[in-house]
Amino acid sequence: MLRIESLSKTYPNGVQALRGVSLEIPNGMFGLLGPNGAGKSTLMRTIATLQEADEGSITFGDIDVLQQKDAVRRILGYLPQDFGVYPRVSAEAMLDHFAVLKGITDSRQRREVVDRLLRMTNLHEVRRRNLGTFSGGMKQRFGIAQALLGDPKLIIVDEPTAGLDPEERNRFLNLLGEIGENVVVILSTHIVADVAELCSRMAIIAQGQVRLTGDPRTVMDGLRGRIWQKTIDKADLEEHRREHAVISSRWLAGRVMIHVLSDDPLDHGFQPVEADLQDVYFSTLRSQQAA
Ligand code: ADP
Repeated sequence: MLRIESLSKTYPNGVQALRGVSLEIPNGMFGLLGPNGAGKSTLMRTIATLQEADEGSITFGDIDVLQQKDAVRRILGYLPQDFGVYPRVSAEAMLDHFAVLKGITDSRQRREVVDRLLRMTNLHEVRRRNLGTFSGGMKQRFGIAQALLGDPKLIIVDEPTAGLDPEERNRFLNLLGEIGENVVVILSTHIVADVAELCSRMAIIAQGQVRLTGDPRTVMDGLRGRIWQKTIDKADLEEHRREHAVISSRWLAGRVMIHVLSDDPLDHGFQPVEADLQDVYFSTLRSQQAA
């Protein structure tokens, strides 16, 4: 279990990136969802021992994460948001090099590990190609291969699907889904569907604060009977926004499908719909703006 308590961070320029963040993250896939600038990367980098917090504590089992950095690094797998690779090195050689850095010094063992991870990430056939020739999705899969070196117990992937096309994204999420249930995996993302498809627990973070945490099913249940849907002409959108708590609008063949949050039944063409995670996300962000 990863336990974060009252974590705060203000950058020298005065930006308060984290404001009293507390989270309990058990084994399994945890989705950290929030808009750009919410503080996700700051939190991920702090857990990954790459930057300091001003206040608060983080523990992982017996490890004091903010103090025992070496102990954390031994059990950590990290795919940063801006994972760079050496373009003129082959995937196999680069992964072998990372494996040495991870302390796998026995060359036979290293060959086995590198081979297994290249197969797992579906990169074995292209292992001799230089990383500079890889697509975005291939680079991210390579990033996961390096993050899995040394059988980490805590895996952090920061915005891994940004910029991937739908097929690559699918492939990448399937790969994440294969990582065991006996490790903590934190997936930070601004894409709601990433969390809906994969995570057994989640949190929504905005402006450096945790706005909601729980398992996706329970948080969706919390909106049961309160989401109303209607398809309208685009000319009527502004009026609906004035009169109702419109939490999302999607274009549908020239018209607009809106979702409205209301505790009371709505008529005039509104239909009740089951809440999905998008509704949870947008209503959470909306209530924050209203506050
Ligand atoms: P997210 O990952 O959710 O997009 P970040 O943690 O990157 O959010 O950023 C949170 C806030 O902190 C943003 O306002 C961002 O501009 C600011 N920020 C991030 N890194 C730095 C830094 N090194 N120096 C100053 N401000 C920063």
